[in-house]
Amino acid sequence: MKEFRLTEHEVMSLSSRMPTPFMVASTDKIEENYRFMRHHLPHAGIYYAIKANPTPAILKRLIGLGAHFDVASAGEMALLHGMGVDGSRMIYANTVKNISGLKMAAKIGLNRFTFDEETEIDKMAAYVPGADVLLRISVHNSKAKVDLNTKFGAPPSMACELLMKARDKGLNPIGICFHVGSQSFSTAAYEEALLLCHGIFDEAKRMGLNLTDLDIGGGFPVPSLDCPHVDPAPMMDAIDRQIVRLFPNTAVWTEPGRFICGTAVNLVASVIGTRSYGDEPWYIIDESIYGSFSGIMYDHWAYPFTVFGHGEVCPSTFAGPTCDGIDVLYRSFQSPRLSIGDKVLATNIGAYSTVSATRFNGFEIAPTVIWEEQPECLSRKDTEKSSDERISAEAI
Ligand SMILES: *Cc1c(COP(=O)(O)O)cnc(C)c1O
Repeated sequence: MKEFRLTEHEVMSLSSRMPTPFMVASTDKIEENYRFMRHHLPHAGIYYAIKANPTPAILKRLIGLGAHFDVASAGEMALLHGMGVDGSRMIYANTVKNISGLKMAAKIGLNRFTFDEETEIDKMAAYVPGADVLLRISVHNSKAKVDLNTKFGAPPSMACELLMKARDKGLNPIGICFHVGSQSFSTAAYEEALLLCHGIFDEAKRMGLNLTDLDIGGGFPVPSLDCPHVDPAPMMDAIDRQIVRLFPNTAVWTEPGRFICGTAVNLVASVIGTRSYGDEPWYIIDESIYGSFSGIMYDHWAYPFTVFGHGEVCPSTFAGPTCDGIDVLYRSFQSPRLSIGDKVLATNIGAYSTVSATRFNGFEIAPTVIWEEQPECLSRKDTEKSSDERISAEAI
């Protein structure tokens, strides 16, 4: 799968028209990722986890494609509702819900919730009586980069008991959900979780509960600097086969975040300072770990990085502009000698980047522009078209 990547020429052209740093998001790439998932996981519906990147143009494209959405707060619900999305297209997938979220859900007709504790049952029964609820169970996956199963999920052995308690309080228990952890490279983790859920579905049936829905969460991986070759196709194909085998009559859902938006965004930044002391040259760029690179901290990420320069190559350190020593982005990165004003590019930076950026030290959050609205995109399309024409002319 090809990532969205600006060429050197496009970086130069864009940065001659607007000040760095800025993010460039391709909504065509968003659509490609969405369709890829529909193709390789045809038996699962998609709730896009909007916390990964709620840029309006991205949401708009997904709304147009018929996506459903995973939300976790009143703010996320209001954002989507304001864009015309009915509550019936959302799942409130935060196991611990606050009152403003529950009230907003009731207001917009969102009727599907996840929970993993008995105390949540009373809250839901009070604010959204009769709601459809899925119990989140904890699953084991040592291969995930972000482990979500210490904070979330009930022990699978308690699943039926909790679902029955929800029913006793007038809620409608419809199924089970899990999240194997983020940036998971293990198909086995999903397969084991599916088997576990299959057992719970059987047990529930014996207790007179007919479960109809299964939500297999997110976590599907995106190529990173330290793991550049990720092929999600065989992974999704294998999961889909397992769904067909184990859950032929169940409504199955996924909640991808990073997979949809991660590869669709590039960051363009400039070298604004240098530091020549120490073991290797340092370059200070105009975007920081408190800004779009926040995923390095919060999401344990290493974004693929490209620098545009032509001098001798040596291991170099890249740091952000804030007055904090922690604000270091790359160490011992093989870089040509750079000068102030030279441009750098981070790719696959669409997930958990802008959303967790801060204005620390007074630096503004880098704006996101839409690639398909830029003249550079049109000229790329023209070049691609003429080379396609050339190829087909040669073929003739
Ligand atoms: C964050 C989150 C997701 C998305 O995770 P990714 O790793 O971005 O795919 C899905 N479901 C829930 C409940 C989440 O909290």
